Amino acid sequence: MKADLVLTNARVRTLVGDQVAPAVAIWRDRIVALEDVPAHRTVDLDGAVVTPGFHDAHNHMAWYGLSLSEVDLRVPSLEALYDAVAERAAEAPEGEWIVGAGYDENKLGGHPDRDALDRAAPGRKVWLKHTSGHMCLVNGPLLAELGIADAPVDVPGGLVVVDAAGRPTGLLQEQAQQLLNRLVLPYPVATLVDAIERAGRVYLSQGITSVTEAGVGGGWIGKSPVEVAAYQLARDSGRLPVRVELMVAADVLHPVPAHETDGMPLGLDLGIRTGLGDDRLRLGPVKVFSDGSLIGHTCAMTEDFADTPGERGFLQDSADALRTRIVDAHRSGWRVAAHAIGDAAIDLVLDAVDEAQRRWPRTDVRHRIEHFGVSRPDQVARAAALGVVPVPQGRFVGEIGDGMLRALGPERAGWAYRYRSLLDAGITPPGSSDRPVVDGAPLRGLHDMVNRRTDGGLPCGPEEAISGLEALTAYTLGSAYASHAERDRGTVEVGKYADLAVLSDDPATVDPASIRDIEVLSTVLAGEVVWER
Ligand SMILES: [Zn+2]
Repeated sequence: MKADLVLTNARVRTLVGDQVAPAVAIWRDRIVALEDVPAHRTVDLDGAVVTPGFHDAHNHMAWYGLSLSEVDLRVPSLEALYDAVAERAAEAPEGEWIVGAGYDENKLGGHPDRDALDRAAPGRKVWLKHTSGHMCLVNGPLLAELGIADAPVDVPGGLVVVDAAGRPTGLLQEQAQQLLNRLVLPYPVATLVDAIERAGRVYLSQGITSVTEAGVGGGWIGKSPVEVAAYQLARDSGRLPVRVELMVAADVLHPVPAHETDGMPLGLDLGIRTGLGDDRLRLGPVKVFSDGSLIGHTCAMTEDFADTPGERGFLQDSADALRTRIVDAHRSGWRVAAHAIGDAAIDLVLDAVDEAQRRWPRTDVRHRIEHFGVSRPDQVARAAALGVVPVPQGRFVGEIGDGMLRALGPERAGWAYRYRSLLDAGITPPGSSDRPVVDGAPLRGLHDMVNRRTDGGLPCGPEEAISGLEALTAYTLGSAYASHAERDRGTVEVGKYADLAVLSDDPATVDPASIRDIEVLSTVLAGEVVWER
């Protein structure tokens, strides 16, 4: 019997310990040998490095795909932002909204001004999304359409920000963003399929072969109540370039009239829950938002932010409602992925998981805490003891690290987006980006996990740095573990899926300062070469 494809003259980083193999042989979609064997096709890699394909354990695929067609607000100044808005307004068809994404007031010196936006795009509705996704800024005509041009409304779990005179500034935080929903949602499935495919093609070019999409179907994160249909259609029409695990937004879970002995107080219709699907498209955890963002000062902290004394952020719902949601989802058979950035929110989630496991024990669930943004040492130990998987974002340290340092002050800098102490506690952390919140190229994430420096050049909790091999393992095997997929993916071993990235250098041995310069030469998914430079 011949293999279909052999990649030879390679340095194969198997991630089984520090083993390196000379070749990898593939038959159909699986790895069948780690040596040169007879094959229908043999490719000489000329010494290039082969690793498992990257798995981004927390990204927003449709949101990122949509943002690829929006005005790019990653600009150096407010003036440049107004120019970019004006430029799009000059060429957009009559009546079309000007939608931009990716602004960060920490880099601009402040949020955009609603009146300046009105001047930049006369008569247009302008909607600018903050890089965190936790807030947005809208201009006068949009505020008028929402009926809040001159006075705010109360939104539970959110804020319509006003100036000293009580006039809305256009900044809508957290749940207040939902005010826009009736105007923009739902996106058509066809638009979402386009976005999903566009995002997936970028992922392949960066060595990513699988992702976990961090919230579909509802809440402020959802793009349509039938968002899963978009992923299914993408898959059925050959337009889903990578393997996807979908988190379901908690907002779409509802009481289900199952038999009382089933222990399913809430779920989706038909009792569908975590695990349904296959290796290409699968339902993952339920996504519960417990708080907001660190650089936006909307995450729930036990102590004040360093740069805004008296402020500790807030929870997205009452503590009791959040706790009940987590416990009931656990009892109903869901894996829970709870967004928790501030340490007060992390306390709440750990308490809820603890209670859930005491009352309704389940084995090897791997509930997750998304971000685990600012965690005290006792919380690391407790997550390990509870079998909770923290899901930090390495690239945050670089791209928004300067804003994080200001919000946390020097004492808590080492609590931010930890890795070292997670590994030391026996936790298997995944790698992820939260794209489009920051650049999602995995090698940028690896670079920051190893170097722990902000893009401004400051060390950010250097004691939380890990080695290149550990970072690579997190972004592959760790992410597979967080998805209960480590038997099929995450290492280069006989029997596993042939999901591979071919790299110009080895993240495990290259000078740490140049990890981000490593190039992706090609990407293999299920035995097919799906991208080549
Ligand atoms: Zn996210």
